[in-house]
Amino acid sequence: MADIKLKNVRKSYGKLEVIKGVDLDIHSGEFMVFVGPSGCGKSTLLRLISGLGDITSGDLYFDDERVNNKVPSERGIAMVFQSYALYPHMKVYDNMAFGMKLLKASKEDIRNRVVKAAEMLQIDHLLDRLPRQLSGGQRQRVAIGRALVRDPRVFLFDEPLSNLDAALRVAMRLEISKLHQTMPDVTKIYVTHDQVEAMTLADRICVLRDGMIEQVGTPEELYEHPNSIFVAGFIGSPKMNFLTDRFSAAFDCHTLGVRAEHIDIVDSDPLWSGKVVHTENLGSDAYIYLDIGAEEPLNVRLKEPRPIALNAEIGVRPQDGHLYRFEDRGHPLPER
Ligand code: ADP
Ligand code: MG
Repeated sequence: MADIKLKNVRKSYGKLEVIKGVDLDIHSGEFMVFVGPSGCGKSTLLRLISGLGDITSGDLYFDDERVNNKVPSERGIAMVFQSYALYPHMKVYDNMAFGMKLLKASKEDIRNRVVKAAEMLQIDHLLDRLPRQLSGGQRQRVAIGRALVRDPRVFLFDEPLSNLDAALRVAMRLEISKLHQTMPDVTKIYVTHDQVEAMTLADRICVLRDGMIEQVGTPEELYEHPNSIFVAGFIGSPKMNFLTDRFSAAFDCHTLGVRAEHIDIVDSDPLWSGKVVHTENLGSDAYIYLDIGAEEPLNVRLKEPRPIALNAEIGVRPQDGHLYRFEDRGHPLPER
């Protein structure tokens, strides 16, 4: 159990400030996801929380204890990275037991914990194998298992799935989500640049941009009420359509945002219309791209996948209540 509190946390490398004053409360047992583009400071912030990196200024609390000067082993954390970093000459069992052996735990205690973690991750049949005899997904399970065995109060993940192929990534995402349910007391912080992972795993998401927090909220809050054009464009797949000039002027704003799923194809009285320049059929979903005369083609999700010919002339209308208006600095304007 640990609440984690960051108060005006900053980190500089020499003269370069990369974390620029972060205030954040993470609740005990919560699954918090840090998401943002590459280079925005996600890994750095996670390393500060883990103790692998020094905080330049500000305060970090685990419960009510200031832990700025505590080494990682004193913080009760376990970390899983993108690269599995398993010891290649050690069997899975020994890889998982290694950290516990260092802590001088009893043999029986070690065995119990390794077996329990292995069962939880369904790798108990692999304990006698070497890492090279495992698939990528199995290796990542071992890396997670090794962290679990240490019975951490805080679990930190840094893009653990980004080396896996797409199908495996989805499967492991589900595993991690289940893990969250089986360990409700452990606080989890998960770093990813993948907004789908963020949306599906998080209790709350913290969107980082250039070393600062852009917005913190539940996936639904960020999707429905982005507090900037940056969050609006980052959360949600496919990316929100942004329209400017005469399209936005008609709505009295600098930029008008509307998601592909909130645009209807209409037979009469369209608001916008144009030719189909591209179609995308994903099986479960299909999208068309319309050249309505805006800078970018308008992405529209089809309610029922059906064949639409290239160059067909289509009229559309955005749904009421799903238009986002932004002023020139990217701040949202009230709904109307
Ligand atoms: P992310 O994980 O979001 O991709 P990082 O936290 O790794 O971003 O990096 C944030 C910024 O800090 C980047 O500009 C990166 O170049 C810089 N940075 C990270 N580690 C170091 C370091 N050890 N020395 C100097 N600059 C660093
Ligand atoms: Mg990173």
